[in-house]
Formats: sequence, C-alpha cells, structure tokens
Amino acid sequence: MKQRIAIDLDLTLGEAIIHPLSNSVLGFRKRPGCIEFLEQLRQRYTLCLWSIGSRWYVDTVLAFDLGRYFDETYSWDEMSGEWKDIRRINAEYLIDDNPAYREKARDAGIEADRYVLVPAYGSPEDTADPLLWIRQIDSFVQ
Ligand SMILES: [Mg+2]
Repeated sequence: MKQRIAIDLDLTLGEAIIHPLSNSVLGFRKRPGCIEFLEQLRQRYTLCLWSIGSRWYVDTVLAFDLGRYFDETYSWDEMSGEWKDIRRINAEYLIDDNPAYREKARDAGIEADRYVLVPAYGSPEDTADPLLWIRQIDSFVQ
C-alpha cells in the first residue's frame, strides 16, 4: 500500500488569481515544476490535498487542471482545526508553506521531519530560487 502524503494548496502549489472587484476565482497560477512534481510524486504516494480554504474554494481552484493529481481532498469544511495534524488523515508527510504546523506537531510529539516546509510561492526566498521548494521536498520525502 502506498504511503499517504498531504499537500497544502495556497502558496505551496501556487496562487489563485482573484478578480479584484468581484472576488471570483479566475484561475490558479502554478509555481514552476508543480505539475511535473505531482506527476512524479503520485507514482509513489497517495496524494491528499489539504487546504484550509472552504470546499467551494478548493473545488473551484482544483477545476483549473489540478484536481486530477489528487486521490483525496480536504477543505476547512470537513477538516477545520487550529493546525494540520497529519494523524487525522493518516498521512506520512505534510508539505506546506506554514511553519506554525511544524511547531504544533513537535509539541504534539510528531517528528518534525514529517512536516516539510517549503518557501511560500512569491516569497523572496522563492523568487531567488524558484525550484528550491522541489529540492526541499526531495530531501525529506524518500
Ligand atoms: Mg499555504
């Protein structure tokens, strides 16, 4: 059986393009290497998207050619909570741009190296090295 890996959406895989006036979602700007990376990862893992966005938002974004890479998806509607506890969905790893989850995990006795922190899409660190996020994941996830 494949191990399960949870992956955050916003600023981890890219960024939603929001209409400035209507607030409607016009698309999703995927960060460099995103699709190739998901293709590669799904050979070895069951991929679970885990967003703190609403179910409506998640489904809207996934419709922009992203949904087919995921075996399961979780939104705030089903999985609200203060932090992303990977034990709740039996995931081996979480890939996320939010450093707070790793702190919470450590406090809860979960090995910190199961929380893979990637530079947020568009952050100075990311802009300086747009494929750093992939190398960081590769160095954690075997
Ligand atoms: Mg995020």
